[in-house]
Amino acid sequence: MTRRKSQLSAQERSRALSAAKDAIGRKTPTKIVRSPSFDSLPGYKERQVMRDIGRLQNLGDPTFRELATRPGAVSQIQQKDVINFGSYDYIGLNADPRPAKAAKQAIDTFGVSASASRLTAGQRPVHRALEEALARHYDVEDALTFVSGHATNISTIATLVGKNDQIISDAFVHNSATVGIQLSGAARRSFAHNDFDALETILADTAGQYRATLVIVEGHYSMDGDIPDLRRLIDLKSKYGFWLMVDEAHGLGCIGPTGKGVREVFDIPGQAVDIWMGTLSKSLGSTGGYIAGSRALIDILKYEAPGSVYSVALAPNLAAAALTSLTILEQEPDRVAKLQDNGAFFLEAAQKAGLDTGFSIGSSIVPVIVGHTALALAASQELLQRGFNVLPIAFPGVPMNEARLRFFISSEHTKAQVSDAVNVTADILNDLRESQLEAKVQSAISGIT
Ligand code: PMP
Repeated sequence: MTRRKSQLSAQERSRALSAAKDAIGRKTPTKIVRSPSFDSLPGYKERQVMRDIGRLQNLGDPTFRELATRPGAVSQIQQKDVINFGSYDYIGLNADPRPAKAAKQAIDTFGVSASASRLTAGQRPVHRALEEALARHYDVEDALTFVSGHATNISTIATLVGKNDQIISDAFVHNSATVGIQLSGAARRSFAHNDFDALETILADTAGQYRATLVIVEGHYSMDGDIPDLRRLIDLKSKYGFWLMVDEAHGLGCIGPTGKGVREVFDIPGQAVDIWMGTLSKSLGSTGGYIAGSRALIDILKYEAPGSVYSVALAPNLAAAALTSLTILEQEPDRVAKLQDNGAFFLEAAQKAGLDTGFSIGSSIVPVIVGHTALALAASQELLQRGFNVLPIAFPGVPMNEARLRFFISSEHTKAQVSDAVNVTADILNDLRESQLEAKVQSAISGIT
């Protein structure tokens, strides 16, 4: 009878035991350091301080507000109807019955979840149908979808560039790009927002030093509502030969006469940009992200990007809703016109009221920059009391001392809702400034910290 591997002789067992003891002896540290409790971590302590300040000044906490209905132009918070300026539903498709019907049908056919990664467990027809439609929309060869927009940026950037490359990004790119940049291991540089002279200086200084250079910008900036000069970027690209990535999360459906994004503003062909990135969660009223570009690019990402290879596929119902919304966007350009009309109306009214709207061009995103975080917080809470849902944004989302109220405008808002929101905001900010809130909060902070 042959002996099984696990059946060791007494001698072998004793040898294995003493080898294991030796190994443990070598590895046991002389002093055990216990990991700190979560409530002693700096992040938790900072949150507590912010809450204490909020309580002291009756500012409350505007985070995680509960909306009882669809986050459209009107929603319901604390059992009251509010005019909502806190939703990405820029062209009203999250409420449209057609994407909802497509999603329900997809659930009936394919179930709620995709249930596994496409690479190993296969895809549903709606995945490719959506990707082909996105590729057509950008006039490029192919596209790939991911379960989240945030994961799309991280996965794509970290897959394409590595330690022999460099990334140069606009200082205002979204956190998802920043995290991808950090993970990539590439040399990182950034230039002041939309300052392409500064970008050119970096390109000239670093020419010839890397295998590849990736330049990352947004097509419509999420915190500021402005756009880059894409024509200048294309000129720089032909001079210096870098890869250009444009995050169109807030461009699609919002920018350009028919909502095709920043390339439509500058009349640039889709193939002129190497990597188009976007999300399904804004104008398309769904959830997920995508990359559109050359066949080779998409092939690399399909087989190498961790967010594609090691993550579940986009839920078929979300793909079906996004595909239907994309078709509606193409067939109903009036939605885009209405959104842009509302955005321009908001911008003009806000500027007339003396509000600081920063660089916004007046489409779906208009910030009202107030400076101190406490002002943004208090104004947001007071706006809610007066029937408007507008969220405050503070550091690190935006530079220190540039806290703001960020208004997301939609094609569904009425002009009356827009002008009421502007007037009430101006009133509230005047009152808050007169009340010396900043000074009170500053002294509360020094009392606590
Ligand atoms: N890019 C930009 C510019 C964004 O603003 C966001 C989030 N709003 C993302 C990417 C991530 O997209 P998602 O929220 O769909 O994951």
